[in-house]
Amino acid sequence: MRKIMSVAALFLLTLAYPVDAQAASTATVVSPKRPLNVRAGSAVWTAPLRTLPHGSSVAIDCQVKGQLINQGSVRVTDLWDRLTDGSYVSDAWIRRGGAIPACGPAAPVAPAAVPAAANTTTGTVASGSIPLKARTGPAHGAPLIAALADGTPLTLVCQQRGENIVGTQRVTPMWNRLPEGTFVSDAYVRRTATPPPCTAANQPVAAPAAPAFGAWTNPLPGFRARPGFRTANNPSHIGVDIMSFTGTPIHAASAGTVAEVVCNIEAGHSCDQTGSASVGGCGWYVKIQHPGGIATLYCHMVRKALVQPGEQVKAGQVIGYVGSSGNSSAPHLHFEVHINAPPTGPQNAIDPLPFMRTHGAPIG
Ligand SMILES: [Zn+2]
Repeated sequence: MRKIMSVAALFLLTLAYPVDAQAASTATVVSPKRPLNVRAGSAVWTAPLRTLPHGSSVAIDCQVKGQLINQGSVRVTDLWDRLTDGSYVSDAWIRRGGAIPACGPAAPVAPAAVPAAANTTTGTVASGSIPLKARTGPAHGAPLIAALADGTPLTLVCQQRGENIVGTQRVTPMWNRLPEGTFVSDAYVRRTATPPPCTAANQPVAAPAAPAFGAWTNPLPGFRARPGFRTANNPSHIGVDIMSFTGTPIHAASAGTVAEVVCNIEAGHSCDQTGSASVGGCGWYVKIQHPGGIATLYCHMVRKALVQPGEQVKAGQVIGYVGSSGNSSAPHLHFEVHINAPPTGPQNAIDPLPFMRTHGAPIG
């Protein structure tokens, strides 16, 4: 379990261990398009502290697991590098010589030197297997901005009253505002101190925007598809798999009409049970027909989809939740793209990775 330390405890720790026995590794920031954000924690929703220009040299103490970053210039990784002052950068943007050791259990959760840290409270997502949703407002009907996995460290700017939620930690109408302006229910946040009330003084500079309902969008924002379309080992696999968590919202990749909502499974099995590699079928799935003869398919949902055949959906609309029904050995979304549809079949399936990339919504 993560230890949350107060600034005072951090200060004592610094006094007790004035010299770190472990030498820091020097590495280089590779971020040619824009400066790299240095943050208070190991995720992009933690407070930004400063930026580092392309080519900067950084001194890294150790690494922690955090948010998966798949847009980096060096690698795709969920590892974040803790710098010698206790701040963090994603390892996706760092060129370095050798491996970096993992941070010990007593790693500080926020740098002590930053004055802003004294005004905020830290916490941890405690939501079990279903990710905690960060929304534009303090109610479960407010547009979804992000899904935060269990154990994700949080910076809690302030709290305000909203919809009453029964969670794992408490039953409460209070919602925590995160640094970028989104809200998470306090019912699912493990914390030792109570964040201050939200006032005019701690309002975000700009309200968070709901996801842009553009032409095409990632069906599982924040997660990365593995290349896997018709591989040598599995030539009949006509989609890509995006590993995720049970209960993560699946979004329509583009606007269209729901063509099918089906339980596709081998006789004698149920889509409402966790599947396995030895069960046939894509479980609970949705097929959406888009303009231009394009169809998309979303398999292995945890339960029947939220949408009905014939319903019009917008790009980015939540249509169901990740599960492992049917021929599936772990929670994931199997995603297919077909051209010249209907009908859909192996004959007109195309690799979703280049398709989504060229449509402005890379998923790989
Ligand atoms: Zn698959």
